Amino acid sequence: MRVVSRLLALSEDVWSSSGKSAIQTHVAQMIPDERPGDFNQAMMELGVTVCRKSKPLCLLCPIQEQCLAFARNCIEICPPKKPRRDTVDVELFALLFWRKTTDTLAIANRTKGFLSNTVGFPLIPAIEMSEVKRVLQSLQHLQLFELSSRFSHNITHHRISGKILVAQELDNPSISTESVSWQKLGLPQSFDWIPRSAVASKLSTSLDNKVFKLFQNYH
Ligand code: SF4
Repeated sequence: MRVVSRLLALSEDVWSSSGKSAIQTHVAQMIPDERPGDFNQAMMELGVTVCRKSKPLCLLCPIQEQCLAFARNCIEICPPKKPRRDTVDVELFALLFWRKTTDTLAIANRTKGFLSNTVGFPLIPAIEMSEVKRVLQSLQHLQLFELSSRFSHNITHHRISGKILVAQELDNPSISTESVSWQKLGLPQSFDWIPRSAVASKLSTSLDNKVFKLFQNYH
């Protein structure tokens, strides 16, 4: 994107899908029929070693004579800066299953939804929470309470704000948490019950660590 934008002095609209497809069209016309792989490799290397993002080495550049941005002295604006993405507010609930008798907490590998493929507490979009709460409240072996403290966290362009719902297992439950079909609610089906003293070492995101600290402050 950078090399071709400079080569053609493209200073506008290169990041939109129509801008990208226009660049692809240009590149398709440049690729030689013979050894197109070498062309790709050369363009990549040129971008990394010579036509760098800042301070490009134009005086050493093998395609300087063909470069319109160099000829027009507009390298600084080719390509233009990527537009910043708008911030998206996300409201989540962190669900902490707590087995008080053994002082263990349930964590899981989140396979979908927010922060998927990370290990931590189940995270539920606030919009889906009324259904999850309804199911949790119907389970006799759980007692629910919400922590008064909220957590907040920013990831890329997401501004996350959340509440913590603790689902405390009552002593000698008649059913086990594992026997409930959580997948219907979009939650992981299997949890690992981790002693509180070891939980911090198992969490893979700083958001989960914030949640855990708030729980520790409370209990
Ligand atoms: S002349 Fe400069 S801006 Fe143009 S392609 Fe070469 S290094 Fe990049």
